[in-house]
Amino acid sequence: MWDFKGVDYYELDALLTPEQKLIRNTVRQFVNESVLPVIRESFEEGHLPRSLVPEMGKLGLFGANLKEYGAGVDSIAYGLIMQELERGDSGLRSFVSVQSGLVMYPIYTFGSPEHKKRWLPKLASGDAIGCFALTEPGHGSDPGGMESKATKDGNYFILNGNKTWITNGTNADVAVVWAKLDGVVRGFLVEKGTPGFSAVKIEHKLSMRASDTAELYFNNCRVPKENLLPGVEDLRGPLMCLNQARYGIAWGAVGAAMACYEEALNYSKERIQFDKPIGAFQLVQRKLVEMLTEITKAQLLCFRLGQLKDQNRIKHTHISMAKRNNVAMALQIARTARDILGANGITLDYQSIRHMVNLETVYTYEGTHDIHTLILGHDITGLEAFR
Ligand SMILES: Cc1cc2nc3c(=O)[nH]c(=O)nc-3n(C[C@H](O)[C@H](O)[C@H](O)COP(=O)(O)OP(=O)(O)OC[C@H]3O[C@@H](n4cnc5c(N)ncnc54)[C@H](O)[C@@H]3O)c2cc1C
Repeated sequence: MWDFKGVDYYELDALLTPEQKLIRNTVRQFVNESVLPVIRESFEEGHLPRSLVPEMGKLGLFGANLKEYGAGVDSIAYGLIMQELERGDSGLRSFVSVQSGLVMYPIYTFGSPEHKKRWLPKLASGDAIGCFALTEPGHGSDPGGMESKATKDGNYFILNGNKTWITNGTNADVAVVWAKLDGVVRGFLVEKGTPGFSAVKIEHKLSMRASDTAELYFNNCRVPKENLLPGVEDLRGPLMCLNQARYGIAWGAVGAAMACYEEALNYSKERIQFDKPIGAFQLVQRKLVEMLTEITKAQLLCFRLGQLKDQNRIKHTHISMAKRNNVAMALQIARTARDILGANGITLDYQSIRHMVNLETVYTYEGTHDIHTLILGHDITGLEAFR
């Protein structure tokens, strides 16, 4: 059975409150006992481990940072939840990120009182699943160019367009869909079964296999006019949601890196070559030391980011820096761990290659690595380099 102790070289635990530690340890135990025994099979079969959804609901992991509808935990506790989940699998953390940051958050922040009453309790318990539909086949990094359109027709909006790469698209009871109404980006709640709305699973992924991803089609889809999110207009809406999710990713990537580091460290002490454990060779030690140093730096970044968030001093560029650094760091660590594991590292008997291929997605989604470079470059020079 798994007995993960965490990676804490700089004694960051000493800075956590008893409540933050309790939350972290509870999710850590859930991942050890419920996620790790099933994740390999889900990954191999290529689907979300759906049986875990009610358990995550009971633990209060959906919308955990929202007051009234969630436990209202602070930002560091929220980050620690994401860290522990992604130590299990990036697909599982993605599920919780989407449900919390990309579905519950916009309904909570931009929705009407009726939207909140109808959806938030069910989404919090896991009795309903949500998805967030921004990306289109022709518009990924540049969502402002989206072609999905809504037009008014009496008491309805008629939605036409096509979204792709949508996490939970085939499982969702409600989709938060971003489309242009009179040329302005608006958010619509589209319920499963709405005439003209269909979702098709994207098959043959080699990354994020324990997460379901879909294409969504809106073909003269009739959405009741009450389903428009009233509280936001233009790209600010989806970008505010993405900030929530990117914050969680910055922490989650540390969890994936910790899993790979721990696996490589243990292996290096057991694997004998040239009559010695491979961990006794200087080159292997150097790799392990670099992994631990990068994890420690990323943890410090996250911890400070959490403080800034709770003090309402966080800027989207702070989040960009942490997402950009921590995901690249985790991807590099997963590759190095895979290398230390030798040939064994290419099988799913070990975790590192699963984390490695998952992190290829994390590097690309929620703003690619290079898009975050440009966001930061813009911030420090005042000069925009996007176009
Ligand atoms: C498994 C998975 C799940 C996802 N889940 C969701 C979801 O739930 N909802 C959702 O809406 N989307 C989702 N996405 C989509 C994701 O957010 C997009 O893939 C991402 O925004 C990048 O868009 P793209 O793939 O079209 O790449 P592109 O935008 O085409 O980028 C391709 C390359 O060009 C580079 N590039 C683009 N523009 C510039 C520029 N100006 N300067 C320099 N380089 C540039 C990029 O950095 C990248 O390297 C998901 C994606 C994956 C893989």
